[in-house]
Amino acid sequence: VRRLRDVGEHGWIARLARRLAAAPSRRVVLGVGDDAAVVRSGRRPLLLTTDTLREGVHFRSGWTTPAALGRRAFRVNASDLAAMGGVPRFALLALEVPPNMAVAALDRLVDGFVADAGANGAALVGGNLAAGRRLSVTVLLVGEAPGRVVTRAGARVGDGLYVTGTLGGAGLAVRRLAARRSGRLPDPPLRIRAGTLLARVARAMIDVSDGLVQDVGHLCRASGVAAEIDASALPLAAGLRGPRTGVTFAATAGEDYELVAVVPASSARALARLRRRLGCRLTRIGGVVAGPPTVRLRDAAGRIVTLERAGHDHFR
Ligand SMILES: [Mg+2]
Repeated sequence: VRRLRDVGEHGWIARLARRLAAAPSRRVVLGVGDDAAVVRSGRRPLLLTTDTLREGVHFRSGWTTPAALGRRAFRVNASDLAAMGGVPRFALLALEVPPNMAVAALDRLVDGFVADAGANGAALVGGNLAAGRRLSVTVLLVGEAPGRVVTRAGARVGDGLYVTGTLGGAGLAVRRLAARRSGRLPDPPLRIRAGTLLARVARAMIDVSDGLVQDVGHLCRASGVAAEIDASALPLAAGLRGPRTGVTFAATAGEDYELVAVVPASSARALARLRRRLGCRLTRIGGVVAGPPTVRLRDAAGRIVTLERAGHDHFR
């Protein structure tokens, strides 16, 4: 029997995408395989995405407050829309809740979600509530794109690779929490505005959820290119500066929910103009090169940094 741990999370999804692509629909502009789906219904394209946060898998009790968990559920989903230049408009929230959970705690979770969604242009319009052994929060977001929809495909040789914010901070917090040291999961950043601005100049985008190297790898496969990342250029989160372990950790830890944008040199001036309005830092971390879709991380001396893993896979 072939099991999920044999094919892996991304292997299984790629297989599903191939099966669905065999019977395309005219209303589906972009199906399984990118950060969000793009469908046609009326004049404007709609963006759809869903993601789950599950206790024991994505977080443990005590790592976060109910309100922060609600915000997190919104933000990890909004990140996938932002990665395509989209903004969230409507949300569905499907909850699995242990029967002994305090009503006030569940209220705080939903309030945290609704407040964060509302502050970012999205309304909760429905969902589902079911009993479960563990708390599980599934979100579906429907979004619109004010401008171009940017996919993972489209990167070309010679383009620059940029990342918003910093890397490794969430991974470091998880490592500390897992070692039973104090702390809380930090709120994922909001990059909705940065995403819509970068969509004006980017040829391809993806968000960093599972680890920079792995996620840039997805972008490379979709675009049919390779990428070189300059390890010394990575914007490390506070607490990670220093030895090479910090760099490899930041490049693979995941949960950063920052955006990687591929911008051609011809858009450098346009990028310089919109940089100040992003609301976060933007760092050039490497470039797109020819070759089979791989990601190479190089140190300051130009040597390839070998990685034990590129990022997170739920089944491997
Ligand atoms: Mg994504």
